[in-house]
Parts: sequence; structure tokens; C-alpha cells
Amino acid sequence: MSSKRSNWKITRAVLEFLLEASKDAYPSEMFFYLSGSLKKRVINEVIIGYFNSSPEAVIYRPEALPVNLKIVGTAHSHPSGDPRPSRADLESFQRFGGVHIILAYPFNENSWKAYNSYGEEIEIEVIEES
Ligand SMILES: [Zn+2]
Repeated sequence: MSSKRSNWKITRAVLEFLLEASKDAYPSEMFFYLSGSLKKRVINEVIIGYFNSSPEAVIYRPEALPVNLKIVGTAHSHPSGDPRPSRADLESFQRFGGVHIILAYPFNENSWKAYNSYGEEIEIEVIEES
């Protein structure tokens, strides 16, 4: 599957945090909300890391989220090593934000992929800072 160009960017610091946290939690799954600038389309903040919780469990509990949360997307880990979204992932991608990252085992620079709300793979540029 070829990936689509997107104008989304992520800071290296956030990407490294996501990979490290996923590695630390392995074999449990991690889930994060991504925040940043919708205008600049930059992800430069991780809002919440739910440890050992499925995205579905979080998304169906909106009262668990802080008020004024500016979510631009989500990220979660796949301890299985398969970076493709599950059917449940595809449903959840439509609920929050426009960019969704799946961090697959072994959680290195080459083992993550990003998707849009429709589950289509997109390219995200890694930038040094926002
Ligand atoms: Zn998943």
C-alpha cells in the first residue's frame, strides 16, 4: 500500500517519547492523545498516555478527558508488531482528530505508521522542533 502525502508534521521529541513509552509498556498496549497546532498541522504535545487500556475504552468515556483538550489525533502501540489498523482502530480514527499513529513493536524509527481518519496511510514529516 502506498502512502499519501500529508502536510502533517511531528516533532522528533514527541515521536521519541511515543516510541520510548510504548517500549516501556511492552507487552501492554499504550494509548495517547496527540495535541498541537491545527493551523500549522504540527503535533508537538502528548496529552494523555493511558497505560494498558484499549482506545475504545477511552473513547467511549469522554468524561475522562480534560476540558479544553485540543486533540489533533491519537497514537497507540501494537505490541504484535503489525502496524496496520484493526477494524476497531478504523472506527476510532473517525472519532478524534485527523491524524493517527500506530507504533508497532519493536518501536523504532521504522516501525510506526500514520493514518488519516479514513484509515489511509499518510506520510508525516519528522521535524526537529515546532
Ligand atoms: Zn490498534
